[in-house]
Amino acid sequence: MPEKKGVKEHGWLTFQYRNTGEPIRFPVGTVYGENDGPTLLVLGGMHGSEFAGIEAAIRLFNEADPKKLRGVLKVGMMYNVPAFENNLGFLVPHDGKNPMSTFPGSRLGTYGEAMAFYFNQEVLSKCDYFVELHGGDIPEALTPFVMHLRSGDPDVDEKSRKMAEIYNIPLVVKGAQFSKDNPPHNAFGTAMMRGAPSMLAESGQQGILKMDEVETHLTGLRNIMVHLGMMNGEIVNTAKRKFIENYTSIRSEYAGMWYPVVHLNQRVTTGEVVGYIRDYFGEPVAEVRAKLDGIVSMVRTSPAIKVGNTLIEHGFIASEES
Ligand SMILES: [Zn+2]
Repeated sequence: MPEKKGVKEHGWLTFQYRNTGEPIRFPVGTVYGENDGPTLLVLGGMHGSEFAGIEAAIRLFNEADPKKLRGVLKVGMMYNVPAFENNLGFLVPHDGKNPMSTFPGSRLGTYGEAMAFYFNQEVLSKCDYFVELHGGDIPEALTPFVMHLRSGDPDVDEKSRKMAEIYNIPLVVKGAQFSKDNPPHNAFGTAMMRGAPSMLAESGQQGILKMDEVETHLTGLRNIMVHLGMMNGEIVNTAKRKFIENYTSIRSEYAGMWYPVVHLNQRVTTGEVVGYIRDYFGEPVAEVRAKLDGIVSMVRTSPAIKVGNTLIEHGFIASEES
């Protein structure tokens, strides 16, 4: 039980990276409710240039009223501050690692691994529920979606699924199955494996801050707080959901220029051409094809690609609400 009641605090959580002495800093706010309830952690900026999620985290913290709150709302406005400050997509600039592959982290590992270690130790490991906010990175056109993973614990998995469903975003993605022997290395999976129901939400795109995409996140976050009994209100439920399985990225096997020929929410069939790659002289290098029958949720819009870049994300529609 938190010792504080009815107050709101914010500041920088600061650590020192042992290997170089550089600071590791996270802007964090805590709203201590007047009454008891669960601790919900909301984190923006896992990818530091996904601005809709960052803005939603800032706004959620500012609108939360400790007098009306039950439990504790913890908000990390921005996880990947070095990426934000450098206008960099996806990666921690110090080590080139995607923070979604660094959890639970290592104190004496690379800078990004040490970030994960401290954030997990001080914040992530202390929550009862967790929502990780994304917003479509600089080179990504994206249709909003939510994702829940599977830990093998039926109670945690069902609560995570329910959180994702209640976020009021039409695409609900059932993500990968993990186990203690095969743990996830992202933050929301790490929290889930510890027993905290968790989800990821994507709304926003292409390094642009649009308020309607921020509002999509805020509606989902308020819904979750009402659902968890942390505040009063009506759950907004306007989405016609599509339940997605086999969510799959198509990654580039080449460097060159990328020319997508599909658009967001387009239905594709296995083997259908979704884009082309040419070299810098205009010579054809490859046709890129859909890996499944499904719906396109992300299209890489930057033509600049190298081996391993995600070109398209798509998933199979298992069922949909009418
Ligand atoms: Zn992201």
